[in-house]
Amino acid sequence: MNRPAACLFDLDGLLLDTEPHHARAWSQAAARFGLLLPPGRLMRLRGRRRSDNVDQVCAWIAEAGQAVPTAAELLAVQQPIAQLLLRGAAPMPGARVLLERLRDLQVAMALVTSSGRDAVERKCAPHPWLGIISERVLGDDPELGVGKPAPDPFLLAAQRLGVAPGDCWAFEDSLAGAQSARAAGCVVHVVPGTELPASILGELQASADHLLGSLADLRMS
Ligand SMILES: [Mg+2]
Repeated sequence: MNRPAACLFDLDGLLLDTEPHHARAWSQAAARFGLLLPPGRLMRLRGRRRSDNVDQVCAWIAEAGQAVPTAAELLAVQQPIAQLLLRGAAPMPGARVLLERLRDLQVAMALVTSSGRDAVERKCAPHPWLGIISERVLGDDPELGVGKPAPDPFLLAAQRLGVAPGDCWAFEDSLAGAQSARAAGCVVHVVPGTELPASILGELQASADHLLGSLADLRMS
């Protein structure tokens, strides 16, 4: 039977179309500190925890020879922009229908996101259908060691659901997320975003068992 023990879903860029908003917020915040972030670098921030992205952006600012802000100074610029934009994030194509179908088939599900509790609650509030997924591994989860691209988030989700990681289907859009799911031993479905640089698309393909045009393309018997 073409059915997994559980489905493990990323949130940003996979269930909700938040990534353009995150990218715009990081881009504007970095610009405030003298750094232009090209698309390739913005892609590298996808799927990772906020604190890891702060470290990365500060490292790039230092590399560019600019005065490096503290994490608090960078987030004081980035967060208000992100929070304003994220209120309007739409569902990704096929996301809601897929979750409803999996619920009807009684397939276990978990959310595996690098976003912290506050951000997840804010982003999910306009989308009650996301409540179909009750198990959640969050970026600031007290039981989580390291974040994506390490395998820990997907391993923790499988453990909480009481299933083997190898019997789980993981759904991701980002490179860090796909690498995390692959390292955990899940069957990795990747829905690549549009307008990806060729190098990132190649790396995504290398970490994916299946590439999907959208979540609406998944077939289950
Ligand atoms: Mg993502």
